[in-house]
Amino acid sequence: MIIVGAGLSGIGGACHLKMQCPTKSFVILEGREAMGGTWDLFRYPGIRSDSDMHTLGYRFRPWRDAKAIADGPAILSYIRETAAEYDVNKAIRYGHRVRRASWSSDHTRWTIEAEAGPEKTLVQLTCNFIYLCTGYYDYENGYTPEWPGVARFGGMLVHPQKWPEDLDYTGKRILVIGSGATAITLVPALAQRAAHVTMLQRSPSYVVSRPAQDRVANWLRRCLPDRAAYAFTRWKNVLLGTFFYSLARKRPEFFKWMVARGVRRRLGEKYDSKHFTPPYNPWDQRLCIAPDADLFDAIREGRVSVLTDEIETFTEDGLLLKSGERVDADIIVTATGLVLKLFSGMQLVVDGAPVDLPKTMVYKGMMFSDIPNLAFAVGYTNASWTLKCDLAAGYVCRLLNHMDQHGYAVCTPRVNDPDIGEEPVIDFNSGYVMRALHTLPRQGSKTPWRLHQNYMKDLSMMRYGRVEDGTMEFKSAQVARGAEAEAVASG
Ligand SMILES: Cc1cc2nc3c(=O)[nH]c(=O)nc-3n(C[C@H](O)[C@H](O)[C@H](O)COP(=O)(O)OP(=O)(O)OC[C@H]3O[C@@H](n4cnc5c(N)ncnc54)[C@H](O)[C@@H]3O)c2cc1C
Repeated sequence: MIIVGAGLSGIGGACHLKMQCPTKSFVILEGREAMGGTWDLFRYPGIRSDSDMHTLGYRFRPWRDAKAIADGPAILSYIRETAAEYDVNKAIRYGHRVRRASWSSDHTRWTIEAEAGPEKTLVQLTCNFIYLCTGYYDYENGYTPEWPGVARFGGMLVHPQKWPEDLDYTGKRILVIGSGATAITLVPALAQRAAHVTMLQRSPSYVVSRPAQDRVANWLRRCLPDRAAYAFTRWKNVLLGTFFYSLARKRPEFFKWMVARGVRRRLGEKYDSKHFTPPYNPWDQRLCIAPDADLFDAIREGRVSVLTDEIETFTEDGLLLKSGERVDADIIVTATGLVLKLFSGMQLVVDGAPVDLPKTMVYKGMMFSDIPNLAFAVGYTNASWTLKCDLAAGYVCRLLNHMDQHGYAVCTPRVNDPDIGEEPVIDFNSGYVMRALHTLPRQGSKTPWRLHQNYMKDLSMMRYGRVEDGTMEFKSAQVARGAEAEAVASG
């Protein structure tokens, strides 16, 4: 077994394997020189989760910090400590960037090609099963739109994905372009030392204040053993999250009123509510969290101002906006998002034919139609990433154990129901999703091809549902070889 990626999902997947498939051998190939993925890469001030760590943490290892909305370094420590505790850190081969994986039915095996080390030496490895835990965005570069006059700007331009370690912004005027989770995180953190921070947004986001500490969780931890307290809090948060998500989707007007009331309470009646009133419905894009109302406090105290406007051009000193307003800045931060890139552009090949991902359909949100012995870890868009990745890793283990018990070597999801319709895999309209939608696989109109985006439904399907569900095709090694030979003979 080969796991690609040593981030939150890859380490979680390896721990599941250790616990549920103790006889399997595996390696984790990691392109970078460190584990932790997102939580090691992003170094901007204030970097934190916007989910609570009782659901972003692993099901099998309690989150013990008092802060539920946690800082990046605390999440990174949690990943590292988990890897050490479950003894999976020794299985990581750092500096191995996987470029290509090709499946041979003849050998019932994947061959993986990776570039290793600074010389990018080509390394080949084979395995029976691949678990891709590569995240969902381009690690090389974030997204920066092309604006007129950028070259003219005399100050410093920074993207949060490449935050310079030695950037001293004390006493500087900072302009942050963007209104997504990164901007909402960065702005109050920068405002602690900057002279002033301006957040410029083309369109606003829904921003909700939430306590950074979960008082119920912290109280339960004092009364119950760690694991029981964690399990209870995790379920509480899953149920509350599911309730508020469905409320937002079913009663958008009521939800909008609730969010607007929260903003008014924090910023007062006189504050221009347009800066926090998006033109779309809640959860058409991801909701942003302000822990302990940090963003609202910074605005109220005058350390931060928000502008809803568009850029006409960069100038020597800052920006000229379409409204005619000028904003001067020493530093401009382009919190304009990520470039969505599944599996970091790895090429997949099945029996000599390159896989065209948009032509595949997603099975149970973790495998692809017609691609054998390969699963991937991609989390929820409306809840914590790990809730889904824990289920996916558990399902991979069930699948492997089932195959061992029945002497199967190959499992391939097949679309064998003619009534399955095709739909986009994500129903978000965020910029980074829309820009990449044509590169993504599709989802189907019915289970198991439909993404539930709902932990409880997935839990019943993936932990308790049948592995032999009529959609997954299983073959022994001999049968798989025979089918391949027949296909070759018939041209
Ligand atoms: C700033 C930020 C904040 C976030 N906050 C939250 C949050 O609060 N809640 C939430 O649910 N989600 C959040 N997310 C989404 C977040 O990415 C996931 O929660 C989670 O960390 C993803 O873990 P992962 O291991 O699946 O992917 P990643 O963290 O992206 O790790 C993938 C790993 O795979 C490696 N890799 C990729 N391709 C290859 C290759 N070809 N060969 C070898 N190695 C490879 C990478 O180097 C990396 O180490 C956030 C994302 C960002 C960017």
